[in-house]
Amino acid sequence: MTQFEITIRNGTIVTPQGRRRADVGVVDGRIAAIGKNIDGAAREVDAGGLLVMPGGVDTHVHLMDPGDPTREDFPTGSAAAGASGVTTIIEHSHGRPVRSVEQLKEKAAYLADRSHVDFGLAAHAWPGEADHVAPLWEAGVSFFKVFTCTTHGIPGHDAGALRTHLTATAEAGAVSLLHCEDESLTAVAEEVLRSEGRDDGGILSDWRNRDAELVAAAVASLLVRRTGARATIAHVSNPEVASYLQAERERGGRLNAEGCPQYFLLREDEALEQGALRKFTPPARARSAADEEEMWTLLRRGILTHMSTDHAPSTLQQKNAGSIWDVHFGLPGLDSTFSILLDAAARGSLSYEDVVRVYSENPAKIYGLDDRKGRIAVGRDADIVLVDPTAQRTLSNETVLSKAGWTPFDGRTVTGRVMQTYLRGELIAENGAVVGERSGSFLPGAGAR
Ligand SMILES: [Zn+2]
Repeated sequence: MTQFEITIRNGTIVTPQGRRRADVGVVDGRIAAIGKNIDGAAREVDAGGLLVMPGGVDTHVHLMDPGDPTREDFPTGSAAAGASGVTTIIEHSHGRPVRSVEQLKEKAAYLADRSHVDFGLAAHAWPGEADHVAPLWEAGVSFFKVFTCTTHGIPGHDAGALRTHLTATAEAGAVSLLHCEDESLTAVAEEVLRSEGRDDGGILSDWRNRDAELVAAAVASLLVRRTGARATIAHVSNPEVASYLQAERERGGRLNAEGCPQYFLLREDEALEQGALRKFTPPARARSAADEEEMWTLLRRGILTHMSTDHAPSTLQQKNAGSIWDVHFGLPGLDSTFSILLDAAARGSLSYEDVVRVYSENPAKIYGLDDRKGRIAVGRDADIVLVDPTAQRTLSNETVLSKAGWTPFDGRTVTGRVMQTYLRGELIAENGAVVGERSGSFLPGAGAR
């Protein structure tokens, strides 16, 4: 009889195809058996009444380490991930971008003992450095982050530079994550707003306007198709952008469309009162509950292919220091994204199967981690969360583990609670707190395996 390290018994396993009552047995950190009445374990966990889901795979987070540890670092950011039910992240930070194989190796070595969850690392694409694409991909970056506009100090790619980059990734078999805002349109808007002396929260929707996102997303998705590259359009903020991506997909473009909770739940006009606390880009576009519901529909239908947080924290003090023009873009989100998806399932905007598909299985597939991550299946890593689907909790600044110390969803009551998180069969978090030593390790990207 197989001797399991741990069995999780009597729970309801959720896969994208459906749910079933079964036990899970773990050997060497991997799922070794799924079935009825599995016994013979050193440790048994009773998951009666709970959902057994794969850990979240959040492929767009910025932990600022190395970079700016006053905003976040890996121990704090990865604690927020683990406690919220996320067991794999793909990280990149703009303050210390990875542009060479040597920088990738240095960063992976520095982070060896700093993460509570497994992590991949992305590189930054740089105009004029397309010859770095193949060596970085083969060295194990998870994807290339590309800006179409100069943002966070990272130079933007115009259509020519983008085409060159995408051609290099198509040859290498690599995947990119494209931040789409047209710089000429944001620049014109900025000039007008500054000439009017504006510095209120209302600048955000005009400065980072819908046309800028749509123009850049339309050009980028066209070039993805024309070059035969594979890419994700980052943080799609509204249905019109999604419809352009879907049209290019129907023409053969290999395009993914990333959703983030802030484009579902936060409203465009909140910036008028909240100011810099709603400074992220593109900014929130939803104006009504109907707009929000349309985003959930796009996610259910697979037009939006997966979810991530775009976790880019600053403290309240940092957000409130100085003009809205000058403070950092970005929101904290790792503490709340899994909760928000579970709550959407409890309210019927998604199914629990959808949650597994959009926050575990699809992101693992898109970034080539699906041999180990994203699914409760024999042979995969035993990255498992136990969820009480009926328990309620109120998201609160007080319980945030990110160094940000706040959440844009403060005060929001959600249904569905992650009770325990397991990474490769080890309990790493329980009841909203991390437990044990940091055991997360570097996951090389698909090009290195
Ligand atoms: Zn980002």
